[in-house]
Amino acid sequence: MSQNQKPKLILENGLRTDGRKPDELRPMKMEIGVLKNADGSSIIEVGNTKIIAAVYGPKEIHPRHLALPGRATIRVRYHMMPFSTDERKSPSPSRREIEISKVIREALESSILVEQFPRSSIDVFMEVIQADAGTRLASLMAASLAVVDAGIPVKDIIAAVAVGKADGVIVLDLNEPEDMWGEADLPVAMMPSINQVNLIQMNGNLTPEEFKQAIDLASRGIQTIYNMEKETLKSKYIEFKEES
Ligand code: UDP
Repeated sequence: MSQNQKPKLILENGLRTDGRKPDELRPMKMEIGVLKNADGSSIIEVGNTKIIAAVYGPKEIHPRHLALPGRATIRVRYHMMPFSTDERKSPSPSRREIEISKVIREALESSILVEQFPRSSIDVFMEVIQADAGTRLASLMAASLAVVDAGIPVKDIIAAVAVGKADGVIVLDLNEPEDMWGEADLPVAMMPSINQVNLIQMNGNLTPEEFKQAIDLASRGIQTIYNMEKETLKSKYIEFKEES
């Protein structure tokens, strides 16, 4: 993709560059229990964005001086594989990856019943296999599913989507050109059953009216994604039941 010439984001027919309507989500796939050596794992695809997540724990924390007497310590690593982006990404952690790891940790932590596991650690690793916008949110969802797959109690599963503005139109679930060239990018993550926001960030500008419209659109998208996550978890339990 050209780095210096803004493409048209909304075409004459009102559709987006990937053929979606402004309020349409990208196709999504998710699966849990995909790694045999982790306590919990998941893989998630949001359009062309692909993430794998693994969870270890709760377990005794090392080094021991990091132990918190009243709760578990959550450690999170978000990382992009060198082949995940248009241009090869250096495998060493960038400032962006360190920041996103922190943002994801804070969002994920607020969903976990950390007080149930004093002096222990829960380690969460997310690898971006393929990046096409929305990797922080897809990673957060993959992490949330992997935490549940590990049997760790949570307040709710996290569902997330980015909304934004492209060529003056409020759009749901940004793709890479919209993320890069759009007027605003607003990632939102929630625990829908308790109506609690885990993460909200914003790049660009929206009027108060547009912001409200964007949040309404995000809430609708989040509800659809949340239902898909619940189905993913349920289908795994049905599989277990049938096996036993
Ligand atoms: N991106 C990239 N190389 C990088 C970082 C980002 O190609 O080193 C692309 C990637 O597709 C990513 C998008 O830019 O999804 C948007 O990145 P942003 O920082 O907004 O985070 P994201 O939307 O992935 O959460």
